[in-house]
Amino acid sequence: MKLHRSYSVEELARCLDVHKNTVRHWQAKGLEPIDKGRPVLFQGASVRSFLASRNSSRKQPCTPGTLYCFRCRSLRAPALGMVDFVPMRPGSGNLRALCECCETIMHRRVREADIAAIMPGCTVQFAQGQPRLSGQTAPSLNCDFKRQG
Ligand SMILES: [Zn+2]
Repeated sequence: MKLHRSYSVEELARCLDVHKNTVRHWQAKGLEPIDKGRPVLFQGASVRSFLASRNSSRKQPCTPGTLYCFRCRSLRAPALGMVDFVPMRPGSGNLRALCECCETIMHRRVREADIAAIMPGCTVQFAQGQPRLSGQTAPSLNCDFKRQG
């Protein structure tokens, strides 16, 4: 595909070996035509950047038991198999863990209902407001439920 050429729907479909409906679907998803004229034409450069952004948004880590470490630039398992869940809004929040290789803090946005599937075999703690990763050695799941009185 040439960046400075413009492509009709048919040409683009042929060039990228996809169905014409796929191109129209891309248009519906935000691929901008050059103008509002007919036939609809797309600039090669905008097609390329559209597809690139689609690919990068698909790059969400999806391997169970891992988070993305920005320092390692790779998916890593949590150190000690320990993960914090930090609720951000009802039903969802951020998983937080230390990279097992470099101990950088890793984050991953999740729905609360997905935690068990995403982090099988890990100890997930529900963080309550403040960071708990530093110096923590044991889970403290029994909070103040049993106050005297
Ligand atoms: Zn790392």
